[in-house]
Amino acid sequence: MSSPVKSKGARPKTKAGSDTAAEPAGEPVKPARAGGNILIVGVGGQGVLMIAKVVALLAQKQGYQVKQSEVHGMAKRGGIVFSHVRYGPEVWSPTIVKGEADALIALEWAEGLRWLDHLKHEGVFIADTRRIVPPFACRSRKAGAPINYAKETPADIVSRVADGFALDASTIAEGFGDARAANTVLLGVLSASLAYPEADWLEVIEASVPPKSRDINRNAFAAGREWALAARANPTLRFDSSITSYEAPAGLLQPKITLEINAAWCKGCDICVKLCPERCLALNAEQVAVLKSPDACTGCHICEWLCPDFAISIRTSHPEPVTA
Ligand code: SF4
Ligand code: SF4
Repeated sequence: MSSPVKSKGARPKTKAGSDTAAEPAGEPVKPARAGGNILIVGVGGQGVLMIAKVVALLAQKQGYQVKQSEVHGMAKRGGIVFSHVRYGPEVWSPTIVKGEADALIALEWAEGLRWLDHLKHEGVFIADTRRIVPPFACRSRKAGAPINYAKETPADIVSRVADGFALDASTIAEGFGDARAANTVLLGVLSASLAYPEADWLEVIEASVPPKSRDINRNAFAAGREWALAARANPTLRFDSSITSYEAPAGLLQPKITLEINAAWCKGCDICVKLCPERCLALNAEQVAVLKSPDACTGCHICEWLCPDFAISIRTSHPEPVTA
């Protein structure tokens, strides 16, 4: 199956579907007799299915037949979720076989690595570098204890694939006021590889999100697209170079833990309160989670990973040792 995904070394197609050496500046390429396989992976609560819906609607808008299949993990945050979107003049099977994905979009770092074998050699890999580590990966609850989880850095992975992009989409989305818009940041990055008009992307995205979050999603899309266009022009920007290791630096002082609870997003489900191993959390009179024993908190992240509403965020910083 041919693909409209632009990748390094791939020759763009004309609207008639024939090979051409040059693409008219500013003119999106929409091959008439082409198709694509887009694989979107992540964990529950990240918006995998929203990306799949946008890609499917966008492909339909171009006149393609579309087939989508998906596996939902736990409805709560943390379960594995993936979706296959296939489109073309005629699509028979809804699933993408290994080595046939034109694009792999990973909302969670380790999930992206797990599905890399589905990516075509010349396919595009787009991943959020944020890791959502499941509780069973924590061998020790001590602050700063090592965890058994994917340790490959963005630089490692981007150097291994033909066309890779790894960015901290969650932080970019947080800058617009909602970390949950990280999926739309990644759609913006994808839009720089899928040659469809920007207006079509925005129209489909706005139709797929609640009216009150349209502005955030529009900004998130623009930020992702701008980032990707800059990264295409300058390969040194293709990965988040601030991440040089996922290992805790050795020999440092006890890390400083900052736990924040977004009261507006907390629905008082009590999950974090029940599952905190140190019993540091409680619901207040308004049924909002609060940190009642900050000194007991080890920064194990369990509450952050299991909150279905992304209401908890934990930052761990390592103070530099004081030198004489
Ligand atoms: S912070 Fe999250 S897990 Fe805890 S009570 Fe609120 S919604 Fe539930
Ligand atoms: S409050 Fe959260 S990070 Fe702190 S010990 Fe409890 S579960 Fe772990």
